[in-house]
Amino acid sequence: MLDALTQRLSSVVKTLRGHARLTEENIQEALREVRLALLDADAGLPVVKEFVARVKEKALGQEVVGSLTPGQALVGVVNAELVNLMGGVGEGLNLAQQPPAIVLLAGLQGAGKTTSAGKLARLLTKTTKKKVLLVSTDVYRPAAIDQLATLAKTLEVDLFPSDPSQKPVSIAANALDWAKKHYYDVLIVDTAGRLAIDEAMMAEVKAIHAALNPVETLFVVDAMQGQDAVNVAKAFSEALPLTGVVLTKLDGDSRGGAALSVRHVTGKPIKFVGVSEKLDGLEAFHPDRMASRILG
Ligand code: GDP
Repeated sequence: MLDALTQRLSSVVKTLRGHARLTEENIQEALREVRLALLDADAGLPVVKEFVARVKEKALGQEVVGSLTPGQALVGVVNAELVNLMGGVGEGLNLAQQPPAIVLLAGLQGAGKTTSAGKLARLLTKTTKKKVLLVSTDVYRPAAIDQLATLAKTLEVDLFPSDPSQKPVSIAANALDWAKKHYYDVLIVDTAGRLAIDEAMMAEVKAIHAALNPVETLFVVDAMQGQDAVNVAKAFSEALPLTGVVLTKLDGDSRGGAALSVRHVTGKPIKFVGVSEKLDGLEAFHPDRMASRILG
């Protein structure tokens, strides 16, 4: 991840030894390391600036109590602010409504939408015993429809069939009808993505959203995209009333900064992280665990 922030901090933290209080002067070097580590991790300058300012504000004047060294006290502040930045407590899916609960997945092509649709279906059927229906509205790429069909088959989860000759909005509406009539608990809707954001794509996903009024609208984003992820997140959160984020490919060579800035940019919680290509590679996101991982 961030190359263990603690490791980077540890040498400067030692210089804080013997101080009874954290002051502007004695934490300067440590804050510089925090700033560099986060920038290296591709967290994005505005987020990093705000983060460092907040750590500084919270740390200054902190009396070092008990067995804590000033360094440990500072690391404690950094940890608390990392958790805060990533959204505080972990939030799961909100499925507490009249079934079927609709989960809409949106994001760029290759972000991991279809894989995440399958992974979510698996989680919901295996762990919470929900009756799940999957549907793809990606009429532009027959391969995407086939991919979801294959996943559904592997998982033994029902799939509402779709065909490239149909309109995405009517596929979605028909799938919802079917889900209602057949008492599904959850309808997971996979949407088309493009390689870059374009107006037609946004208009289409907005129309699907309007037709379905989903309880969960999840933005799926590839953690490896770094700063690009932040820009894409901004565009999607302006176009759709997102309820959360699925951050995929955290197992990859990602520098992790996306986890820090996506929440900041969208204002929405990361609900799940993708940690492998396999169908069991989706985990609930816990800001506190992620913060400990970052801190090492
Ligand atoms: P979509 O175009 O958004 O539907 O993206 P796909 O679901 O087809 O995923 C694109 C590629 O990313 C596929 O090769 C997936 O196996 C891979 N992928 C998706 N999620 C993850 C993840 O969490 N970890 C890894 N390593 N690969 C992933």
